[in-house]
Amino acid sequence: MLEASGLSKSYGEVQALRQLDLRVDPGEIYCLLGANGAGKTTTLNIFLGFVAPTAGTARVDSIDVVNDPIAARRRIAYIPETVTLYGALTGLENLDYFARLSGQRHATEALRGFLAQAGLAASAHERPLGTYSKGMRQKVGIAIAIARDAAALLLDEPTSGLDPKASNEFSEQIAAMAERGAAILMATHDLFRARETGTRIGIMRDGELRREFNARDIGHRELEDEYLKTMQEG
Ligand code: ATP
Repeated sequence: MLEASGLSKSYGEVQALRQLDLRVDPGEIYCLLGANGAGKTTTLNIFLGFVAPTAGTARVDSIDVVNDPIAARRRIAYIPETVTLYGALTGLENLDYFARLSGQRHATEALRGFLAQAGLAASAHERPLGTYSKGMRQKVGIAIAIARDAAALLLDEPTSGLDPKASNEFSEQIAAMAERGAAILMATHDLFRARETGTRIGIMRDGELRREFNARDIGHRELEDEYLKTMQEG
């Protein structure tokens, strides 16, 4: 569903991404780990069509993101570190607005259903976003992704700043979306979450994917050791 092949990006002298080969199938949760500047966001931004690659290809559902960015983007939902929503609108209104932006109209009951599925308590649906905690805002982000019924979900450090309970709930929602068949690519600094929630884990360094694991084959201690080894090598 998501496929990068020989994907590279340079900004002048800086090689942000070097010959990345990556594949995320439906139902998979691929977690990208790596220090600041490793190239995780650049990878996501190329799939989203925000950044053009210098070389190689990125495909979403076999669609080349450079050749047909609109069709590729239509298949993707994106949840950044902080979901941008309108503070004066309620959760329900925000969801309705962003679903309409991507060409979808849903009855109020359906919208409520998406919010509930994302784990947002019914008592919060009609409250202004300005009164929400970060965890609640991220749930609205998930509801938008559910409403869009996108084949692929990209996330950039979505649990950063969430408390452990909110982070755990968020991860459960992500796992549920994967069970419904979404291909999920998530950049994160959270090794614990990556192992708990991910099905595949990749460790990046200096724009390269240096190591890949099946999450179920690696223990937490071992993952931590592999991560530190990657950070220490040249
Ligand atoms: P973080 O964990 O901090 O989010 P990251 O792994 O997402 O880091 P990227 O944001 O992809 O890393 O950055 C990869 C490299 O590309 C870094 O060296 C960064 O400085 C550089 N870079 C990213 N965007 C630009 C830009 N617009 N102009 C110049 N350099 C950039």
